[in-house]
Amino acid sequence: APEPGVAPRIDYPRALQILMEGGTHMVCTGRTHTDRVCRFKWLCYSSEAEEFIFFHGNASVMLPNLGARRFQPALLDLSTVEDHNAQYFNFVELPAAALRSMPKPVFVPDVALIANRFNPDNLMHVFHDDLLPIFYTLRQFPGLAHEARLFFMEGWGEGAHFDLYRLLSPKPPLLRAQLKALGRLLCFSHAFVGLSKVTTWYQYGFVQPQGPKANILVSGHEIRQFARFLTERLNGSHSGPLPAEDYIVVFSRTHNRLILNEAELLLALAQEFQMKTVTVSLEEHTFADVVRLVSSASMLVSMHGAQLVTALFLPRGAAVVELFPYAVNPDHYTPYKTLATLPGMDLQYVAWQNLLPENTVTHPERPWDQGGIEHLDRAEQARIRQSREVPRHLCCRNPEWLFRIYQDTRVDIPSLLQAIRRVVKGRPGPRRQKWGVGLFPGKVREARCQAAVQGASEARLTVSWQMPWNLKFLKVREVRYEVWLQEQGESTYVPHTLALQNHTFTENIKPSTTYLVWVRCIFNKTQPGPFADVLVCTT
Ligand code: UDP
Repeated sequence: APEPGVAPRIDYPRALQILMEGGTHMVCTGRTHTDRVCRFKWLCYSSEAEEFIFFHGNASVMLPNLGARRFQPALLDLSTVEDHNAQYFNFVELPAAALRSMPKPVFVPDVALIANRFNPDNLMHVFHDDLLPIFYTLRQFPGLAHEARLFFMEGWGEGAHFDLYRLLSPKPPLLRAQLKALGRLLCFSHAFVGLSKVTTWYQYGFVQPQGPKANILVSGHEIRQFARFLTERLNGSHSGPLPAEDYIVVFSRTHNRLILNEAELLLALAQEFQMKTVTVSLEEHTFADVVRLVSSASMLVSMHGAQLVTALFLPRGAAVVELFPYAVNPDHYTPYKTLATLPGMDLQYVAWQNLLPENTVTHPERPWDQGGIEHLDRAEQARIRQSREVPRHLCCRNPEWLFRIYQDTRVDIPSLLQAIRRVVKGRPGPRRQKWGVGLFPGKVREARCQAAVQGASEARLTVSWQMPWNLKFLKVREVRYEVWLQEQGESTYVPHTLALQNHTFTENIKPSTTYLVWVRCIFNKTQPGPFADVLVCTT
């Protein structure tokens, strides 16, 4: 048996025999290339051709077996950005016999998770596209979380935040460029390829203007479990004590998109909320220190930008204040608003926009990717300078957007405080989690209905039910029941909201008619349960 903590070593002759006779084995989850993750045995990679290889042998399985549809457009997305044509995964097929005339395979003994990072230099992309999806993909399949080695195939160097990727798995990740040194033909005894997109909440605007994903499947609870994991892994690498009192963090950028009156802003916030204020930046603090400070803050204030993804470390009850430069409409750029307002994040979100042209400083002379516009023709430059709002646009090189988002801003203090006070009533800050707030009722039980006819034109329906079974374990502020009456054959229904567990309907109830009756429970107006089995009642 292998020693604990030591990777099992490969029995080389046996591995080679299994590969040469059996070939590659693949079984995937997911119905389309955008939601597929595949599990492989004996997947190989040619570091010369920079291609994966599927060897056909007598034990090969390829599920799904798509035929030519494997190239329409690909087997799967290697990054979590949906259907990005630079992030596809596929393999080349060979008969296992071809191995005889190929370089001797080098076997990778660790179970591998193979994926692409999307933009490892940008903190929002690092968390949203990579860290969270990797964390939960590692927890989707048994054996990965504590064993896997990550292989990043996008071809970038380590990037600015590689230390964070290192925290996710016990073994250091490997980059594509490092594979050449391992061998000309690498074969993975056991590999997973692709990432779960279940935790992503934002689409960056490649096909339609950017915005929240259409079908968000993650809540604040999962985000916070991930944040807790990362915080624990970061612990020990920080310095200095936290402020003893409640405090506000102003997250500043030092190269661009500056807050020009930061000192004035700090003073105003301290006075308004009677709290200490501290500034942090990615340039002047270690990431561990940023996380430690944000984790206990009552409020996080920052210009729009990737550093705001650190809001996911804020305690429940804290406020997030996002500042937008002149002509940038906050409603059009909502990655951090979407994060802060996920159910269960329990953060208070405030957007503030500079509406005063005299308080903005533009940088037309800079390179195009930092918002410069002098490469454009004069008419277009003039149009952009005069525009009062960037029209909706696609990612990623819209010069008007870049010009506006890289402005520096003098923050108008009264309008900012007003914007915060519209949302933040009283004192913001850490709250204890209230269990049961986000829970849903079960079905109502023992639903029955009884019909009665009075004379030729009048009828009534009496419907009764018992409360859902899970209610007796919960403290729910408001319990209501909803009853839908639908005349059989009609497509419309009449909903009724009720507080008691029975009701007699008399209005618009006709004799000699069959009604379908649907009953469900609703907690606190926002938490509807499932309908009980439909009741069929004939008057
Ligand atoms: N960044 C920073 N300080 C700066 C400018 C940028 O720390 O003065 C960081 C920023 O948080 C992000 C990365 O550098 O992680 C790239 O910034 P960019 O402006 O390209 O992206 P954005 O923040 O608009 O998403």
